[in-house]
Amino acid sequence: MPKPRIVAVDDEVEFIDMLRDYFGLRGYDIEVALRGAKGIEIIKEKKPDIVLMDLKMPGIDGDEVLKLLKSMEPSPKVIFITAYDDGGKTKARLLKMGAYTCFDKPLSSLRDLEEAINKACAQ
Ligand SMILES: [Mg+2]
Repeated sequence: MPKPRIVAVDDEVEFIDMLRDYFGLRGYDIEVALRGAKGIEIIKEKKPDIVLMDLKMPGIDGDEVLKLLKSMEPSPKVIFITAYDDGGKTKARLLKMGAYTCFDKPLSSLRDLEEAINKACAQ
């Protein structure tokens, strides 16, 4: 089975570079965007299996991108990676909106994220 195709959207350059390096070196097809609007453009063109999504970004935030992606066909699985914490309320809302799962930033383990990606794609 080919490796999952990933698009990562996050406004932190260092973070997005780290994701690109990690998954790129392991043979995943990964493209990145620093803004929601650019992310949507790439996602529409690339039709990835997985979207790694920041929540808080200037312009269109992760929430709004998720809403749009849920109306897309096929709809990629969306994994949020965010430092935003309001006691789990936002995470619960994102999951209810159809996000696949949420990870805390900073990430404690890229391996765990990789496992979640592969699990999501095996479904
Ligand atoms: Mg951010």
